[in-house]
Amino acid sequence: MKRNQIFKIYGKDYKDMTKALLEVSNLASMLNPETRIGIKPNLVTPTPAEYGATTHPEVVAGIIEYLQENGCRHIVIIESSWIGDKTSEAYEYCGYRKITEKYHVDFIDVQQEPYETYDCSGMKLKICKRVEEIDFMINVPVMKGHGQTRITCALKNMKGLIPNIEKRHFHTMGLHKPIAYLSAGIRQDFIVVDHICGDLEMEDGGNPVETNCVMTALDPVLVDSYVCHLLGYEISDVKYIGLAETLGIGSSNLDSCKISVYERDESGDVRLKKEFPAPLQDDYEEKSNYSGNLLEVSYAIEEADSCSACYASLAPALLRLKEEGLYEQLLENLPGTISIGQGFTGKTGYLGVGNCCSAFERYVPGCPPDEEAVYHMLLEYIK
Ligand code: SF4
Repeated sequence: MKRNQIFKIYGKDYKDMTKALLEVSNLASMLNPETRIGIKPNLVTPTPAEYGATTHPEVVAGIIEYLQENGCRHIVIIESSWIGDKTSEAYEYCGYRKITEKYHVDFIDVQQEPYETYDCSGMKLKICKRVEEIDFMINVPVMKGHGQTRITCALKNMKGLIPNIEKRHFHTMGLHKPIAYLSAGIRQDFIVVDHICGDLEMEDGGNPVETNCVMTALDPVLVDSYVCHLLGYEISDVKYIGLAETLGIGSSNLDSCKISVYERDESGDVRLKKEFPAPLQDDYEEKSNYSGNLLEVSYAIEEADSCSACYASLAPALLRLKEEGLYEQLLENLPGTISIGQGFTGKTGYLGVGNCCSAFERYVPGCPPDEEAVYHMLLEYIK
């Protein structure tokens, strides 16, 4: 597999199709029995993968089976949930305890581990110390939309390897820059994208869009650029992609990117079905699944360094009002935008969400407030 390639496979037997795709990607040629391998899924919340936020355990099971069948002996799964949820709960509810027990691999909960400050191409970032013990990182993100950064996939998934204190710090730095620099601090050697049913609007799921696809790649910048293409964004809409490219992490040049789609026959053998340059995207159905509603409601929000969990309460509340035909009414009544984020701490204003806006005339308390509270406050406001 070359750095300008992305391989894809479609189907519903997630474990076996993942193994088949790893076979044609020739992952084993990059490893030896002594390589210490880390598998980094996305367990952002304790919700099942069908909900659209977390990595399917079947995909991770397929990776582990493939690695073990190829003689790899040192495999760990490493991850942390977002602020507000416990990784230990996601480990249970997302089916990862069963995997670790079945395949006898360790699970490292980053929330419970010590961290150290590392120099990431000039930016000092706190990273879990256990990452040092990994020779080869297999990143297994879910392809999703994201309320603040538009998309989340390969580059942003590395955020699960930093402690909560650094996650908060990331938000005060505007997310894009530290995400790019983190990718300079933690090398991802191989990427397996769970593109089975990610939520194409919010990172915490709830509106999964079924695609039943798994992708493999070597270049995280290229993968994220391709995701922008699939979701109808310009690469420049997602600033961390260009920043990571500037740092030498990879290439966003889709003109030189080749997509290879594989399929399995009835006996399970895998063969190349078609190949095409990425800009000639033929997966029209995938592209048309994105509604664009989130982008529309984001114009009502003024965000300054907000935490993901806080934003993830406001945006769905606005989407709900939109579905109910009340969003336009809200816009007509609003004298400005709805403020959210740590950047509003101590500042005054009219309408805010979260304790950071406690000095505002009206605000929804909570850190973060829940979606229901935000929805009812906005509803009251309309009335
Ligand atoms: S109120 Fe929201 S933005 Fe402020 S610290 Fe709490 S979760 Fe973060």
